[in-house]
Amino acid sequence: MMSGESSFLTMHIDQAGVALLFYLYKITRLASKKVGYLIGAAGCSYLLPDGTYLRLHSGPAWCRQCRRFANAESMPTVEHLESTIAQLSDPVECAKLFPAPLGPYDPVIIAEMIERQRKCIEWRRIRSSPPRCLRCGSTDITPLPFDQPTPHPGGHGDILVHADFGGGITPRGETLYTPEGILIMEG
Ligand SMILES: [Zn+2]
Repeated sequence: MMSGESSFLTMHIDQAGVALLFYLYKITRLASKKVGYLIGAAGCSYLLPDGTYLRLHSGPAWCRQCRRFANAESMPTVEHLESTIAQLSDPVECAKLFPAPLGPYDPVIIAEMIERQRKCIEWRRIRSSPPRCLRCGSTDITPLPFDQPTPHPGGHGDILVHADFGGGITPRGETLYTPEGILIMEG
C-alpha cells in the first residue's frame, strides 16, 4: 500500500459515534506557498453482491467535475493484490513488509490481511468503470502523487501533496458504495 493512501483505524466508542484516525492531506501550491487541506475519506465501504462489506481505499485527486481537490477511489490491480498476497504468505517477505517496530505481526492479523486482499481481487474482477470521485461520482479525475512536485491539474504551477494524520470523533456511520463506486448511502 502506498504511504498516505486510504486511511483509517476505526474504533466504535459507543452507538452514536465513531473515533477515527484519518489522513489529512496537505496541498501546497509551490509558487504562492498557499496551503490547502483535504481530509481523507473515512468509514467508506463497498457493498458487495453477497451482502458483505469491503473497506474502500481512497487517495487525494483533482476532480474536473467538482473543480476541486477531492477524495477518489484507489484501485489496486489484480496483479498487485496477488503479489501482496504472495508477500504476506511468505514469512521472510512478510517480515520485510513490516520491519520493526511495525512487525512482526500476529499471524491472525496477517491472515485477515490476506483475506482482505482476496476479497479485493473478487471486487476488482467485477468492477468495470475507472476510479471515481467519492464526492460526485465523476471518473474525470487525476490522482495526485505524494511528496513529489506535480503540475496542478486544474490550475497553474506545481503543487506538492503530503499526508499527515488527523483524528477526531464523528457521529457518522458507514458510507456505502456499489462495487462500481456509486454512492448508495451516506453514513
Ligand atoms: Zn467530483
